[in-house]
Amino acid sequence: MNLTSYPYVPKYIVIRKYKDYNIYDLKSDESYIIDDEAYELLDYSDGLTTVEQILDKFPIAKQNEIQEGLSQYLDLGILSLSEIPVEDRKDGNLESQLKTLEHQKVPFKNPFKMPYLKNLMINITERCNLTCKHCYITEKNKVDMPFEDLIDLIYEFYDLQGIRLILTGGEPLLYSKFKELLVELKTIPLEKVLLSNGTLILELDESILDLLKENYFEVFISLDGLEESHNDFRNSQCFNETVEGIKRLSERGIKVSINTMIHKENLTEFDEMYKLIDSIGEIKNWSIDIPTFDENTPKDIREKYEISYDEGGEVLKNYGWGVIYETPSEGEPFEYACGPYLMAVDVLGTITKCGFFYEQSVGNVFELGLEESWKRVQKDLNWSINDLKCKEIGCEFLEDCRGGCRYRALKDTGDIRGVDSYKCYQFGKLK
Ligand code: SF4
Ligand code: SF4
Repeated sequence: MNLTSYPYVPKYIVIRKYKDYNIYDLKSDESYIIDDEAYELLDYSDGLTTVEQILDKFPIAKQNEIQEGLSQYLDLGILSLSEIPVEDRKDGNLESQLKTLEHQKVPFKNPFKMPYLKNLMINITERCNLTCKHCYITEKNKVDMPFEDLIDLIYEFYDLQGIRLILTGGEPLLYSKFKELLVELKTIPLEKVLLSNGTLILELDESILDLLKENYFEVFISLDGLEESHNDFRNSQCFNETVEGIKRLSERGIKVSINTMIHKENLTEFDEMYKLIDSIGEIKNWSIDIPTFDENTPKDIREKYEISYDEGGEVLKNYGWGVIYETPSEGEPFEYACGPYLMAVDVLGTITKCGFFYEQSVGNVFELGLEESWKRVQKDLNWSINDLKCKEIGCEFLEDCRGGCRYRALKDTGDIRGVDSYKCYQFGKLK
């Protein structure tokens, strides 16, 4: 290692302060947890201080160890070396800090107590080109979230130590300033996820694909069966465009994942779907879930698509792959039920837990601000697993299952603390 070079944390590395320091590599998707002492080295690596100057900050007896630590960070890609100082520091607002390396200086303390605000799902538009059978946005007003409000909200999220931004809709690709949004997002180091129906990918301009890639977006596409059942569920002859869209993303090296809803029409197709998905390209996650029908769902839709607990549990048990978000990070107490770090905001700013629980909204994010909004979600919409029925009956799968989906439990049992019977079949609690 050249002692006169300047170590710095590159822009694709995001450091967040939770209980410990969490590091996310947006390029490789690796994540690490480090303690205060290990963070100190990153803090010194500001692009303006040479290796030699960093070593001088430590007693001679410790300098070998420190140099080894720097080498490890370099090997992992958490640090890079420059032969010249990296950018001048800019004082001022968050926006100008983000354009320098200053943003890597995370606060000593997270502004929240556990559970932290890590994931923010924003419905950026109600515009959509489909009318899917299970869609919960029943009154589409064709409204976009105003661009300035959206950007301010994302900056606020970043500043409050958020990590994963999930953009949804409607169909988010129909957001009127989608390209401007991607350009703006390039300076904000967050894990970015886009939930799309996939039907418009083939029409996207090359420059949009470039921006998705430069932002390290993971694009989740909905694929709800083979051709006939997908088209039926999505109420459109869109299967071929969707599959070709997935291929286009994958061929461009954009991270692509698939969301599948289990319904009566696709129940027997999962082996064939597995083969299809496996042949499309590199698919990061295949996430499988069950649509939540409730009292607002028309009776004929429910009758046609709703599956039994054992049917759903069987598919959940055997198919899908990849990361299950939302599990507590290492070192955090195992205490919360589903979605402990998640908050959702609809196009008008209405705060919900996760896109469900509209009837229990805790207010409007544009009136309360994000910090107060999250405190209210923490208070009213986070459930301790110790309060669940699952705990009361001593379920042996509680640690892995964590009670399943609270909304489903509420709709099925009338009790927010109730069991999620699909999960009971998935884990084998019910047979
Ligand atoms: S209630 Fe269901 S949708 Fe909401 S966070 Fe929990 S699992 Fe997710
Ligand atoms: S398997 Fe059933 S009872 Fe057990 S934790 Fe999951 S939902 Fe609760």
